Amino acid sequence: MHKVLLNAVTGGKTREFCGNLRKTLLVLSTALIVSASLAAAAKSSRAVKSILPSAAPSGAPRRKVIALTFDDGPKPYVLFGTSLPDGTKSQSLLNLLEAERVKATFFVMGWRLAKSADRFCVEKDGGHTCRSAAEEEHRLGFEIENHTYGHGNFRLMEKRYGDAWILNDIDRCSRIVQSITGVWPRDVRPPDWTIWPALQQKIKARGYHVMSKSRSLPAVLRDVDSEDYFCAGPNPIHCPKPSLYDYVLERVRERERRGIYEHILCFHELPITVQVLSRLIPVLKARGYEFVTLSTYFRAVGFPADASSAAPPKQAAD
Ligand SMILES: [Zn+2]
Repeated sequence: MHKVLLNAVTGGKTREFCGNLRKTLLVLSTALIVSASLAAAAKSSRAVKSILPSAAPSGAPRRKVIALTFDDGPKPYVLFGTSLPDGTKSQSLLNLLEAERVKATFFVMGWRLAKSADRFCVEKDGGHTCRSAAEEEHRLGFEIENHTYGHGNFRLMEKRYGDAWILNDIDRCSRIVQSITGVWPRDVRPPDWTIWPALQQKIKARGYHVMSKSRSLPAVLRDVDSEDYFCAGPNPIHCPKPSLYDYVLERVRERERRGIYEHILCFHELPITVQVLSRLIPVLKARGYEFVTLSTYFRAVGFPADASSAAPPKQAAD
């Protein structure tokens, strides 16, 4: 650009004058270009920086935050604890979180909140309905988000019923959560994290933010998979070694080594998870972490507000 400008200005007059002018203009135009590129870079880096870890401003202590999230509930036998064969009671997840003053976020399966699931929940989950468990979570200030109604794998569901069915399954979960808490969920975590761009766009277009562990996302927005589901069942041969506790702590340390101090940790409502968290929460607190709900977390990392403020769609998908 500066070459065109120079040619236009130096076409004639004295050589000396033109030589000086050329030098002056070269310096000026270079400065202009440099400052313009710096401004553009600063603008784009501001946009990215808002969701990337950055140094704390002017020596202020850096905020280290963790959003604990739990999938596949509500499961009253985990949330409230249950009687064990040896006569003791298993540890209650809600009691643990309350005792530690930790606020967490629950990604629930909508079908568990239906009246038709009451009997199943009471029989299987030790006296509470799944719905009353969700009410209690909400009363205690935990957030309830969307893990779909039926928990069908999106690939399979798309093949079987198409995209519209999946969108309806998500809204159906939101409606039943809202009927209990009065709050329309904002975040959707696809079962098994199975998602692809076209479907993700359609879900986003309905006002949701889609949780993901894709490497294409900035690390602070990426779910950290605890792999606790490998530790459930009678023969957990795939449970991380040497232990689930070590595995999760190492995931956090690994991110810290890359300068990342904000983490969305994904767990499931499982008895083993409660045991592990009873050790892990104090250790992470000692490392300087505070535990927050997902909406607080997103605000802390500067996640764009427009993507984190879902409202009920004007037209339901069904
Ligand atoms: Zn799940």
